[in-house]
Amino acid sequence: MIEFKNVSKVYPNGTRGLTNIDLTIEEGEFVVIVGLSGAGKSTFLRSVNRLHEITEGEINVNNKSITKAKGKALYEIRRDIGMIFQNFNLVKRSSVMRNVLSGRVGYHSTLRMIFGLFPKHDKELALDALERVGLKDKAYVRADQLSGGQQQRVSIARALAQEAKVILADEPVASLDPLTTKQVMDDLAKINEELKITMIVNLHSVDLAKKYATRIIGLKEGKVVFDGSVSEATDKA
Ligand code: ADP
Ligand code: ADP
Repeated sequence: MIEFKNVSKVYPNGTRGLTNIDLTIEEGEFVVIVGLSGAGKSTFLRSVNRLHEITEGEINVNNKSITKAKGKALYEIRRDIGMIFQNFNLVKRSSVMRNVLSGRVGYHSTLRMIFGLFPKHDKELALDALERVGLKDKAYVRADQLSGGQQQRVSIARALAQEAKVILADEPVASLDPLTTKQVMDDLAKINEELKITMIVNLHSVDLAKKYATRIIGLKEGKVVFDGSVSEATDKA
């Protein structure tokens, strides 16, 4: 469960990113955030896992304040949150396996990451995650040998291996062609349905939003201008 309580974000240069956002996202929802470029979609997502600080209000993740959390408490809240980016954010020269496990192995296990000493349990988790996105046979291929769509599915597997309960996806299909877009969105939908992982996905395509979302949140100039079901969104359009 993710709760925004009167959240505002003003960037250091004075630009308003978000203004007075009040909403709750329940476990298992597939929320798509739509809006034009600059509407505040990235600012919203980055606020959820505190990739940046909000300037007013509070955000709770599973009843814990991520806004106030420090040190280990912050780390523990973030462990439940997987993040997927437009440009995949993989370590291109590392294997798929290593990339998938990078969401799991904490900052304290750098040695493991360097020497590739992955515990058996972690490896099994990674292979399960890769199987879900149809890439089990690519586990030991270098990430940059994969197509864009495959790389994005690796980043989905990374969130799964992390055992995230929430996945934040910031324009995950913006750089992909229509066929690959469908594969990636179908994977997110399947994971949402089968594993009940909450999805919060930024998209600029309203058509895609209507196809996949259970709830659509429309942002404009940092404010919520629509929040409802897909059928309500269709009535309005
Ligand atoms: P998008 O519209 O796809 O969210 P942008 O091109 O707006 O991406 O932003 C790319 C990067 O530049 C992001 O890291 C964002 O935080 C930063 N950025 C966007 N707008 C500004 C701005 N007005 N001043 C400084 N940095 C910005
Ligand atoms: P979207 O993801 O919907 O394209 P953003 O959240 O990236 O929108 O941007 C919302 C507003 O905040 C825009 O006016 C953008 O220029 C501004 N912005 C984003 N990142 C930064 C930044 N790092 N510094 C200053 N302004 C920013």
